[in-house]
Amino acid sequence: MKTKFNINNLIRENIKTLKPYSSARDEYKEVTEDMVFLDANENPFQNGVNRYPDPQQNKVKTQLSKLKGISTENILLGNGSDEVLDLIFRAFCEPNQDKIITLPPTYGMYGVLANINAVENIEITLEYDFQPNVDEILRAAHTNAKLLFLCSPNNPTANSFEAYNIEKLIKNFNGLVIIDEAYIDFSKEKSWIARLEEFPNIIVTQTLSKAYGMAGIRLGVCYASAEIISVLNRIKPPYNVNELTQLKALERLSNPQDVSEEINKILQQRDWLISELKNIKFVTIVHPSDANFILVEVDDANKRYSELINKGIVVRNRTTQPLCENCLRFTVGSQIENIKLITALKAL
Ligand SMILES: *Cc1c(COP(=O)(O)O)cnc(C)c1O
Repeated sequence: MKTKFNINNLIRENIKTLKPYSSARDEYKEVTEDMVFLDANENPFQNGVNRYPDPQQNKVKTQLSKLKGISTENILLGNGSDEVLDLIFRAFCEPNQDKIITLPPTYGMYGVLANINAVENIEITLEYDFQPNVDEILRAAHTNAKLLFLCSPNNPTANSFEAYNIEKLIKNFNGLVIIDEAYIDFSKEKSWIARLEEFPNIIVTQTLSKAYGMAGIRLGVCYASAEIISVLNRIKPPYNVNELTQLKALERLSNPQDVSEEINKILQQRDWLISELKNIKFVTIVHPSDANFILVEVDDANKRYSELINKGIVVRNRTTQPLCENCLRFTVGSQIENIKLITALKAL
């Protein structure tokens, strides 16, 4: 039976007592016109980036808060979601002691971060329908696993996990459940950020790298209880999100209708690609997609991968991943790019 959730049972000892580094710009929040800043050894000549960026990214968070209907105290921003995920490991996982659970085939970064942080990664392969094996996961959880990573929609399988599976895991897992929603804006499923108040043990991560079209600026978003956010704030580098990133993100987040239009075009293209792929003679399975990529089983993935490379088309070969034998992953590109892909496949 699950014990009552208490965040203090999960935080690493050294982090519990840690005071965050206070940067020069943390001390004075109220900025008025005539203030003189001689506290941070900056160059005073204005060029747009001569000052340190806001360490709490208040403008970006306020905009996200409006868009998502989540209070700013439930938001933390990182240098990509990869930094957010790393902060979670460092806050909660004692090296050489704690464990995490991941569900392959899935996003490779969870395992990489587990290795870097010397945390054992218990892998529970998905079922054949790419859904989590809930009973196996809960059995494995008895070995003091601190974190459970659910990627939904999942990369590389492109499906979403059933909400009742996710809910059962959240309700029965004794540690933190991280729901990676990098592809949620393409999905028919609702985001779990709507359930944050109900479940104090979830952390939802999103990113501006996929649907928002800003992989180059590196901005990851973490939504969680104010308690969890304050733990992560204690260990985040003070200026982890640079000024140019904050400006670009703010501009994009202020035009959400542009983003929706692009998402709609990508989804139309995805459906077109799926129907075309079904007509390629060496394609054996086109898996359904709830994201902006498609997992496709072919006769010989290594061969087809190299043939595409020779035609100047780079896709992702996932054949070595569990349940993905002879599978290629195609990102949905622009209409012209997708036509090139289909033309190339037909010519093989
Ligand atoms: C692409 C992707 C991310 C995004 O990572 P960023 O560091 O924010 O670019 C996160 N999770 C998954 C599953 C992804 O596929």
